[in-house]
Amino acid sequence: MTDHHGHDGTESYFECALCGATDRSDAIDYDTLGYPVCPDCGFGPGLSV
Ligand SMILES: [Zn+2]
Repeated sequence: MTDHHGHDGTESYFECALCGATDRSDAIDYDTLGYPVCPDCGFGPGLSV
């Protein structure tokens, strides 16, 4: 397996639709379906606003 963590400008960022928190998409948690979960408020696509 290739494990490269280069800073080539292709990093994506997660932005919470509920509280607006942002974090690197590789630094946040994901639920069992693979959706990003907000590290601040716990909001995820599986939850309704
Ligand atoms: Zn949030």
